[in-house]
Amino acid sequence: MTEASSITSVLSTALRMKMDTPFHIDFDWWEHQRREYVFYMRSHLCEEHQYKFVSEEDDDDQMLDWVDSRTGQVCRLDYLHYTLRTHCAIHPEFLTKRASLVDVIFRLFIANGNQPLTVTELALRIGREGQEKTIFRTLADESLSKGLRPVQSGSGTNV
Ligand SMILES: [Zn+2]
Repeated sequence: MTEASSITSVLSTALRMKMDTPFHIDFDWWEHQRREYVFYMRSHLCEEHQYKFVSEEDDDDQMLDWVDSRTGQVCRLDYLHYTLRTHCAIHPEFLTKRASLVDVIFRLFIANGNQPLTVTELALRIGREGQEKTIFRTLADESLSKGLRPVQSGSGTNV
């Protein structure tokens, strides 16, 4: 029974999404789980910064300006997000390191400045063509999806 109802809940979310629905990291969703956010963001740091952040607990809340080189738009990012985008995500192994499907997609959005992508585009970028349905099911399950959510129409912001 429990399994059946969880499948039903995943399906109902999936019905509201389509293969051409663009996804991004919904940082508003993460706002409500600050502790998990810090823990999860730290897990994507490079070795150098993993070490640095262990010794500098207080920097997490610091906000920094980040300029999107494509749009010229200035965004306020927290220190963790800023460090990932300006340093760790630039390392080649950031996207090639073995990781779960959700982690790979999350890293892709960190690296691309959270530009929305559809399931089809995601599959292509992470070299998982033919696995669109698996990606779709993973993103449809909020307990797995790490804040990777459909872009709300009219939200206007990617960060
Ligand atoms: Zn780094």
